[in-house]
Amino acid sequence: MLLTDSVRKIKGVGEKAEQCLNKMNIYSIADLLEHYPRDYDEFKPIQPITSVSEGEIAAVEGSLCARPQMKVRGSLKILSAVLQDRDGVIPVTWFNMPFLRNQLRLGTHYIMRGKVSKKRGRLILDQPKIYTKQEFFRQVGKMRPIYPLTFGITNNAVTKVLETALGETEDLAEYLPAEVRKRQNLIGYKKALRQIHFPVNRTEMREARRRLVFDELFLYQLALSYIKKNGRGRSSHVAELKPEAERFLAELPFSLTKAQKKVYEEILHDMGDGYVMNRLVQGDVGSGKTIVAVLALYQVVLNGGQGAFMVPTEVLASQHYKSLCGFLSARGVRIGILTGSLTAKEKREGREKIAAGEWDIVVGTHAIIQDNVEFADLALVITDEQHRFGVRQRESLFQKGREPHVLAMSATPIPRTLALILYGDMDLSVIDERPADRLPIKNCVVNTDYRPNAYRFMAEQIQEGHQVYIICPMVEESEESDLENVAIYTEELKSIFPPTVRIEGLHGKMKPVQKDEIMERFAAGGTDILVSTTVIEVGIDVPNSTVIMIENAERFGLAQLHQLRGRVGRGSAQSYCILMTGQESKEARERLSVLAGSNDGFYIAEEDLKIRGQGDLFGIRQSGSQLFALADIFDDAEILRQAGEEAKAFTEDEIVLLYKKNHRLKDRVETYLGKVTL
Ligand code: ADP
Ligand code: MG
Repeated sequence: MLLTDSVRKIKGVGEKAEQCLNKMNIYSIADLLEHYPRDYDEFKPIQPITSVSEGEIAAVEGSLCARPQMKVRGSLKILSAVLQDRDGVIPVTWFNMPFLRNQLRLGTHYIMRGKVSKKRGRLILDQPKIYTKQEFFRQVGKMRPIYPLTFGITNNAVTKVLETALGETEDLAEYLPAEVRKRQNLIGYKKALRQIHFPVNRTEMREARRRLVFDELFLYQLALSYIKKNGRGRSSHVAELKPEAERFLAELPFSLTKAQKKVYEEILHDMGDGYVMNRLVQGDVGSGKTIVAVLALYQVVLNGGQGAFMVPTEVLASQHYKSLCGFLSARGVRIGILTGSLTAKEKREGREKIAAGEWDIVVGTHAIIQDNVEFADLALVITDEQHRFGVRQRESLFQKGREPHVLAMSATPIPRTLALILYGDMDLSVIDERPADRLPIKNCVVNTDYRPNAYRFMAEQIQEGHQVYIICPMVEESEESDLENVAIYTEELKSIFPPTVRIEGLHGKMKPVQKDEIMERFAAGGTDILVSTTVIEVGIDVPNSTVIMIENAERFGLAQLHQLRGRVGRGSAQSYCILMTGQESKEARERLSVLAGSNDGFYIAEEDLKIRGQGDLFGIRQSGSQLFALADIFDDAEILRQAGEEAKAFTEDEIVLLYKKNHRLKDRVETYLGKVTL
């Protein structure tokens, strides 16, 4: 089996399994091998009952100190008992395992291992497995991978498929040059793949992770310098400043901030000087990046070219589409939208309009970079929320036009030193100021006891005509449970708030049309409370919303919380962010207090870096961005730097990559860049 083969080739993968894998964007063997565990179930030794904490999988040993009780709830049979060791007791429950009742004996010693959860404020052991001493000690220290899943496929199934694939893929030969491996002290490629999926212990996992993170960052930087070299030459799209653009600017309902003006001028200069623009605009959430993009697009259209505006989510695509229409349709600009969820016919018609030049601006998701999309005269490519896109996607859109200008926008506050590496091929602009009418968001960190007060406060804000976001508690199992979760939480809220308060739920698994309708209603003020998962994390702009409450705030990264919080404070009214924590650890409190104490994304990013540096990060997928599968530019800053040094040696001299001994590496970079050939 080869890396490029379809997963269908793997023994045991039938049509149904293939569909499930496809849903997770796994098509080839290579995709599968890069489907890294999101965590591991580490079989830890027995611990004292008093030391277990919520959320972990713990093993405890003790005697049964209460007779097992059975309760029946509808079709559910709940068996409960209590286990006691030297210092503590913990209630234990099982669902639908009535037969256990006759096997459990009061006073007898047991080893039990299961998930610790919280019910009515008390820790309990949920659905534990019971082990004999011998069985238990055979397992201690072992680690099992826990994969991101989708409905219809189990962790066991994914594990099995991966085991088979690892055993049978033939082309896993080493591609890093031996000197690099030696200098960087990296384990072999094949070994790393095996160990990231099936480590025997933490050390193996870390070794493997380090190697694979190095690879990602090394290839990224090689690819980047390739792009840079084949760089942006002269441009045939010289955009002159047109009087219509001046008029448009004068007729805006607000005047640009100084920072927006400066960036707009930089863009005008870049697009007018006869060379291709390649610019990254960084600006904190709410700093007003969209209008700058609109201005740049209008400029290009006035000069007779086409513009493409690429965003990471469908919800954001339709928001930008509407706002572009609002700004520019009346001025004769023809705008279209192209996303993955359109029907085949709609897509085809869209493509025809793009090819015929009947659309001046196209807004869309990655659908606009697909092979069959041809532009009549693409002059400007904008990517919003740049950190969500890989260098490959940036490059593909670039190749759609005759050297179009490129403008990338990002709200991710990346310290400058890192930004220079990650976006080393681009010029940098910063919007370091918010519109003048903004009041700083007021933040508070509270525990669940505060919930009734929070609801009361929301009701007051709604009374005053404002709107509210509630980010639903996260459920770990799979995305599918988001659906249930949002639905249940929404119903609960409906019974708490008076019927005049209009509440709706939104989650990632909904059909795009449905998401659109819900977002549209909320944006138009037709809904008072939007209960949502993190699908609204990026870009959503409803300035009338003044409260966001984030449940289980302790489970999010600071950067993500900052993005979520950025959904409010987008208008002139005072806004509030309520960070609700389910469980109070010292570290969580410390992290959240950083957020509560500042609304400055750059400051938060740096603090985040410091705090993270101290902790032992076990979860291996920290990044949440799609730029890298494993690497986290903050945690892995040191590897990023080293990979950069190594990459430099390979790019200063172009022919090094053409040496025979480096042919595998060359292939790898080419694959990385998509269809580009070096
Ligand atoms: P982000 O930088 O997070 O993408 P947006 O571009 O969505 O922010 O802008 C946030 C809100 O601020 C929008 O409703 C936008 O219309 C408004 N806005 C942008 N620039 C200004 C300005 N100079 N003065 C007042 N409001 C502005
Ligand atoms: Mg935005």
